[in-house]
Amino acid sequence: MVEAAYDTDNIFAKILRGEIPSHRVYEDEAVVAFMDVMPQGPGHTLVLPKAPSRNLLDADASTLGPLFKIVQKVALAVKQAFGADGVTILQFNEPASGQTVYHLHVHVIPRFEGIALKPHSGGMEKPEILAENAGKIRAALAS
Ligand code: AMP
Repeated sequence: MVEAAYDTDNIFAKILRGEIPSHRVYEDEAVVAFMDVMPQGPGHTLVLPKAPSRNLLDADASTLGPLFKIVQKVALAVKQAFGADGVTILQFNEPASGQTVYHLHVHVIPRFEGIALKPHSGGMEKPEILAENAGKIRAALAS
């Protein structure tokens, strides 16, 4: 099956171009991380490469090392920032898997003993809560 081409107007491409706001916690020359607006738990962060690809399946392998280095960095930061017991890493490829935004991204979700994840793409979080949580993660990244 031939997958669709990368859409330069997908919502994360617009965020990367600064056309849509986001609560950014990290940025370097190759990778950006910002808060998921429909978090599956407090501190749910998305980490994505700036290089365009729909998902992992069509990504240039050279983007994956820098991406996962920052996934680890953000995972450690969210664990510290929220006093989490663990961290779930999720990544979806194509509609059958549950992917809804077609620019490669990795979900980093702090986890707490006995507390289940909220549904994927569930309710919108308040902007002030996202801003507060982003501030906690930025502080942990800077420590
Ligand atoms: P998926 O493509 O299934 O891995 O999920 C896309 C994720 O992006 C979902 O968890 C959404 O809550 C999240 N999302 C959608 N729009 C935005 C946005 N404008 N800013 C931040 N996160 C978003």
